[in-house]
Amino acid sequence: MFSQESGAVVELVDQLGRLPGIGRKSAERLAYHLLRVPKSEALALAASITNVRENVRYCETCFNLSEGPACEICRNPNRDKSRLCIVEQPRDLMSLEQAGVYQGLYHVLLGRIAPLDGIGPDQLTIDPLIDRVRTGNFNEVIMATNPTLEGDGTSLFISNLLSEYPVEVTRLARGITSGSILEYANKEILADALTGRQKL
Ligand SMILES: [Zn+2]
Repeated sequence: MFSQESGAVVELVDQLGRLPGIGRKSAERLAYHLLRVPKSEALALAASITNVRENVRYCETCFNLSEGPACEICRNPNRDKSRLCIVEQPRDLMSLEQAGVYQGLYHVLLGRIAPLDGIGPDQLTIDPLIDRVRTGNFNEVIMATNPTLEGDGTSLFISNLLSEYPVEVTRLARGITSGSILEYANKEILADALTGRQKL
């Protein structure tokens, strides 16, 4: 599509093509699009990518996305500090927040135990999680990993570690079909799953 001499464009297509779900054809289409839109629009996209990478990091406590050492949820004095909800990814936390029925705190694992992909417990934020439970005042830990084989395995691994602490471990009710992903579940289903959570 592009002539060989436009090295900058080839580079852009290359970069775009590395994004998940973007094949070569889509990458070319996006690059073309960026060349066609007003310059300000393309530069705004570049600026927001820079901004996100320069300023957004993980919360030092819960590993949610944050623009400072502590995320908005950890900083909010009105959150219920007796409940801790464990999710795989920041986007799962966002889905649960949008359901709007949970007022407690979160802990983001930044993944799930996946032996086939070579991901073990050490690569997740499990150590800081155990520290939080040991030193915090939580009454309940809610396992909200995805209802997949790996999500369930991760949940089981963590609940075993937590069994020596005086917290009740619950998990989301299976209103969500087994195997479906939290991120895509609608608000009502997530709200039901949270309200109907059961002892693990
Ligand atoms: Zn936080």
